[in-house]
Amino acid sequence: MSSKLYRFASAAVAAGLIVLTMTSPAHATFNPIGTEPVAPYAQPVDASVPQRGCTTTPADPKNTTSAAPAVQVIYAWHDGNGNNYESYVERIAKIVDRMDWLLDESTDYDQHVKLSCRSGYNTGTSSGYAHALVVPEKIENAVIAGETPPDVIADDLFAAGYDNANRKYLVFEDFDGTATAHCGDVCVATADEWDSGTLMHELIHLYDVDHAKVSEVPNTFSLNDIMISQYNDWQIDQEFNTYYDPSETSATFYTSSYPDTRKVNVAAYSMFTTPTCCDVGYSNDLLTAQERTIEADAPYGNPTGFTVSGGGWMQETPPGPDGQTSARYYDGRRSLTMNVQSYAEGAVSVTRKPAVTAGQRYKFFARLTTGTSGNVKLRLSWYNSSSGLISTSDSSTYSLTSGWQEYAVSAIAPTGAATVQLSVVSPAGQTFAYLLDSLQLNRCDNGRTTDGCRLNG
Ligand SMILES: [Zn+2]
Repeated sequence: MSSKLYRFASAAVAAGLIVLTMTSPAHATFNPIGTEPVAPYAQPVDASVPQRGCTTTPADPKNTTSAAPAVQVIYAWHDGNGNNYESYVERIAKIVDRMDWLLDESTDYDQHVKLSCRSGYNTGTSSGYAHALVVPEKIENAVIAGETPPDVIADDLFAAGYDNANRKYLVFEDFDGTATAHCGDVCVATADEWDSGTLMHELIHLYDVDHAKVSEVPNTFSLNDIMISQYNDWQIDQEFNTYYDPSETSATFYTSSYPDTRKVNVAAYSMFTTPTCCDVGYSNDLLTAQERTIEADAPYGNPTGFTVSGGGWMQETPPGPDGQTSARYYDGRRSLTMNVQSYAEGAVSVTRKPAVTAGQRYKFFARLTTGTSGNVKLRLSWYNSSSGLISTSDSSTYSLTSGWQEYAVSAIAPTGAATVQLSVVSPAGQTFAYLLDSLQLNRCDNGRTTDGCRLNG
């Protein structure tokens, strides 16, 4: 698949409308039932995927003026393939259940998709719920022999009365269409390859989220994320630093490479319920957005929330090649520079010590790079409830490179541990500078992955 991102405006802009199209890879040969993503682990079988259920009071979706935001699910058909609504309606409802499952399962926050239902069906049964959730719509101007573009779908829905500004239309195309997010008169997330990963990818695009990035190198993409490999992966921003942070919905993140300035946090999307902590999910984070991204301070400034001890001094990374912002950014535009001095071991630490539970495994991740060369370790320092140091758990010693590589250390909190301090430690005898960004502290109790923590990279 291609990882290109297309954004373009159409003639509708002249009419004062915002048009935004973000196309996923290949628009498919028509394949109505796609393959569900299986990473980081397989979804449960259909029968045990929870039924999401209706969020709105059932109403006529063509006439409702309800101000309650919700997703309206559409089954779209044309004369070429005919109307197969009855064959597919329950399968579509189950795919929507899977979309809700993956949103909820991505993190230890409870969060769900808001769904619009129509009146006239007994939503207490699977069939009745599916018929209330999924509304059939014939696309009169669809292309019978060839690909139907998303603006035709949006125009058709608007003309048919699906014009509520508080709805996003999630369209299952029963013909050759395109996996796309498009806003014309109404906003549609469409796909002719029906699986929860693809449809959720397109729905998230409607919040102006870009394809997932992991590097300061422009247009370099993540490998493990629903916003780039939705055919394989269902997890949403496992690093909590690119477009989704349910723990701090007021925080926003650069969703694309410099010089793009859009900042988003899809956890605040009106189409989703307010996230609440904590249930068991794939990923989690015990840091604040500032501790994770180091974005709050100006270049040369003192990085808020961090402390240095021993050999070295820190600053917000000064301007460099990308001088309009900061020199060397990773998830955001800024990072912390540690200037290592040789006279003693140096440590840059997150000042705040997050609470931990003795006997549980934790994993500290950070991205580091240097323009020269030098060695560091990651350290977990365990403290008791009287702020007394119990012990430390160090990673092996890493030789830093010129790439923004992710490093990690994982350990079980010892008996008596109440809090943990995160540090990057430079052994004595070195003089060099390194850059630090994208910190994360996982609580590894999800029981779903090998060591209970998210994947590296
Ligand atoms: Zn896309």
